[in-house]
Amino acid sequence: MSWRFVYRVLPVLVIRTDRLIPARFQGYNLGPVILLRPTARAALLEHELTHSRQVYRTLFLMGAIYYLSKRWRLRWEAEAYAVQWKAGDSLANLSTFLANNYHLGISVSEAQRAILGAALGLAGGFGEA
Ligand SMILES: [Zn+2]
Repeated sequence: MSWRFVYRVLPVLVIRTDRLIPARFQGYNLGPVILLRPTARAALLEHELTHSRQVYRTLFLMGAIYYLSKRWRLRWEAEAYAVQWKAGDSLANLSTFLANNYHLGISVSEAQRAILGAALGLAGGFGEA
């Protein structure tokens, strides 16, 4: 268990566990709490911290909107995958995972375009990188 901070002061509790995480995922975000499998790669923590930023900056509305809107789910996941890509994971793997695991109805190349578009937006956006 450890503490991280997003936007410098907003706390996020990171718990390493195999419990409560959906089988197909290595991590799970509950806003100010992140569950990560003990074997999860470091770049995945950056992905999950991005979701914590999204939760805080939407004043905790993100969770509901995420489940209701494919458009916003893609936007927020693309941002998180762009951060994960910049932290060192493979763009090809991330694009395939994004296309196949979020009920978005998009191809791998569309997922890759979304990640690349989000990566371009990070420089002027809310990212801390
Ligand atoms: Zn995600």
